[in-house]
Amino acid sequence: MGVEPQILENEEARLLKKFVDDLAYPSHCRFCQGLDLSNPNPIHHPSYELTPACNHDCIFCYSNVAVKLGKAPKPGYYGWDNPNAITVSQYGEPLISPRIIEVNRILRKRFPEARLDLQTNGSLLTEELWEKLDFDLVMISLDAASREKHLEITNADTFDNVVNALRIVGRDKSVRSIVRTIFMPGINDEDIPKIAELAASLGVDEMMLQPLTIHKLNGERLREAGLDFERAESVRELLKVAMEAKKYIDVRISGCLLVQLKRMDALTLYNVYKVSREVSPLVKRKKLDEIEKSNT
Ligand code: SF4
Repeated sequence: MGVEPQILENEEARLLKKFVDDLAYPSHCRFCQGLDLSNPNPIHHPSYELTPACNHDCIFCYSNVAVKLGKAPKPGYYGWDNPNAITVSQYGEPLISPRIIEVNRILRKRFPEARLDLQTNGSLLTEELWEKLDFDLVMISLDAASREKHLEITNADTFDNVVNALRIVGRDKSVRSIVRTIFMPGINDEDIPKIAELAASLGVDEMMLQPLTIHKLNGERLREAGLDFERAESVRELLKVAMEAKKYIDVRISGCLLVQLKRMDALTLYNVYKVSREVSPLVKRKKLDEIEKSNT
């Protein structure tokens, strides 16, 4: 006697599939080549790099790895003419730089049609500074729901400042505000729904939940902090946490991963693992010096 097909169905797998089908792409991922599966070598949005330095020292950070390997990009614009979106910045903490306001102005003038995205750890954002900045989208990193856990992950006692930054941008309805959170099971999986609830209570529009990429030089720090390496690579575990967070906020997961998940059937989603190991983070875009010269 054959097995009835419905017996092989898995209720949890079906829920994951429905969740993935309904999930929207992160606002930040719009226009990124990572969403185009026909592109064999997609590259990230153009970015303006201000500094590889950061006042946080996060246990998972690829920017730290790049600095240690001497591969961090020098300050400047990495992209092309007529960009649809520019990230400030992909490496380091842009608000450390005294040039942030000037660079923001240069980019707005030189690329008036482009969406300008600020990516920051939020710890240095004040009302006064926010009034001088002009971005369309802002992503603030927060990976813990308590001061103690935040200190463990970032090695900086800045939890209250980051929460205040989320409050500042959450109140400003002229900007798309996003809390950016990295999934680190064993370290912060229980924090993620709480971060979602906190961010939503502050008026933040979206959570961008990202899988962890484990760089060789960070592996030991992540192990010591309690990372569950197997669950970190499980798509099912990532989706389960995203479903919890979705109860509070408009959660999205990285577009270049989501675009692949949307093509999978329920049982594949349930069983698939994402390879999360990389040796060295590199910028694949060319530096364009001319944008500075034309504006000085
Ligand atoms: S998460 Fe992926 S799709 Fe989104 S901006 Fe980054 S590289 Fe592009």
